[in-house]
Amino acid sequence: MAYKFVDNYREKGARKKLVTLLADERKIEDKDVLAAIGKVPRHFFFPETFWVQAYKDIAFPIGEGQTISQPYTVAYQTQLLHIKKGDKVLEIGTGSGYQTCILLELGGTVYTIERQEKLYERAKLFLGKMGYKPMFFLGDGSKGIAEHAPYDKILVTAGAPFVPETLLKQLKIGGICVIPVGDEQSQKMITIFRVNETDYERIELDTFRFVPLVGDQAW
Ligand code: SAM
Repeated sequence: MAYKFVDNYREKGARKKLVTLLADERKIEDKDVLAAIGKVPRHFFFPETFWVQAYKDIAFPIGEGQTISQPYTVAYQTQLLHIKKGDKVLEIGTGSGYQTCILLELGGTVYTIERQEKLYERAKLFLGKMGYKPMFFLGDGSKGIAEHAPYDKILVTAGAPFVPETLLKQLKIGGICVIPVGDEQSQKMITIFRVNETDYERIELDTFRFVPLVGDQAW
């Protein structure tokens, strides 16, 4: 399939409209998140024939039975993380790498892990071409990445049956984990704040539908 890394006036205009939609209709309030979405060319992750789909608020197939998340979902999850410049962020489920770019635009130092080799390779290639430099890992992210823990923020971009205990142990005190939890049909977005060595505060938010988190501490 033909991917092109050209950002012309038509795509820039469509991206602006998407940001307006996310702010006005979908009520995304975080200005930094909106600015990051306005900056990252989402159409680079689509074959050229599908560019017109890239700035609609929809998820889209990226191969291997996976999807690039809906822009609203990316904005919603990212907003919950409250990323500050220099935050060490673990992203579980690289997928296309689009959300990885958003996390990097917000100033995060990003460790991203994907279990599907083809997607891992493609994200590495595409983000390299775009000049983004996260740390890429291939493997089961349901166990986190212990050797680089602890993290300020942990983002899970696939639907989990429960919150893996191992992940929470890799969160810094004061850190935030955002994870969709439920069955295979629908999941509640959960944010978990690590209060101290033993205590966590958990908030349950809106309902979403993600592809499943598959792994040792998952489906
Ligand atoms: N936010 C991403 C984007 O913008 O492209 C989309 C992520 S997609 C909805 C979820 C990804 O999680 C898929 O690529 C899937 O292969 C991956 N995944 C599922 N289980 C995983 C696991 N245990 N470890 C790492 N990645 C996993």
